[in-house]
Amino acid sequence: MSPVVEITGLQKAFGELQVLKGIDLQVERGQVVCVIGPSGSGKSTLLRCVNMLEEPNNGTIAVNGTELTDPDVDIDAARRSIGMVFQSFNLFSHLCVLDNLTVAQRKVLKRDKEEAERIARDNLKRVGLSDKAGSMPSQLSGGQQQRVAIARALSMNPDLMLFDEPTSALDPELVGDVLSVMRQLAEEGMTMLVVTHEMQFAREVADVVLFMDGGVVVEQGPPEQVIGNPQQQRTQTFLSRVL
Ligand code: ADP
Ligand code: MG
Repeated sequence: MSPVVEITGLQKAFGELQVLKGIDLQVERGQVVCVIGPSGSGKSTLLRCVNMLEEPNNGTIAVNGTELTDPDVDIDAARRSIGMVFQSFNLFSHLCVLDNLTVAQRKVLKRDKEEAERIARDNLKRVGLSDKAGSMPSQLSGGQQQRVAIARALSMNPDLMLFDEPTSALDPELVGDVLSVMRQLAEEGMTMLVVTHEMQFAREVADVVLFMDGGVVVEQGPPEQVIGNPQQQRTQTFLSRVL
């Protein structure tokens, strides 16, 4: 079976600035891969390339065996299998929670209202927010908004979930609820690529941890190796700052 994500030789530059300098990465079905590394190392750019929010300059990215970098591929179709959760939630502020979860299901997947609402309610339940279907985003805490964003992504039945620092904008006491939803997803077998500064989460949930610095993967392997016993000086220095 082909990996869910297979990246080879990925390069991305913004003008003169070479941000990704040749990334190789595989995510197998059901795996959780956590990406760690200092600010500016290219983590978000890597994630954004995986669903083609950024166009690579070089290299290949395949998701579920479909080569996204192939100019003949229908990117919109390929993207449908990928859910993304951002640091800043990105909910539609003028729509209630339920409508936030149904709009793309109806527009993109052409589900009827009844089915979309049923799936939305199932996913709200999954993230512990059954009672918030009628609320507006502004009535929710940051942690609740982020769980709505996760439920919205799940409502599209993704094969792969991308998380870009999903807890970085949250007050410390709200981080745990979001991480426990992510932990539960991992246990259910969701394939996940997660950029995070939550080392405890990475340690406990990741199958593979990847340390990036300066647009390259410096070190990757199981968490007990990369976080517990890093071999590279740059990894050791980074961890000594964040742990
Ligand atoms: P990280 O997520 O690890 O903090 P990013 O991938 O966001 O890093 O950014 C890596 C580098 O690329 C940074 O120097 C950032 O300023 C630059 N960068 C990111 N996006 C853009 C863009 N759209 N245009 C120009 N430079 C960008
Ligand atoms: Mg980032």
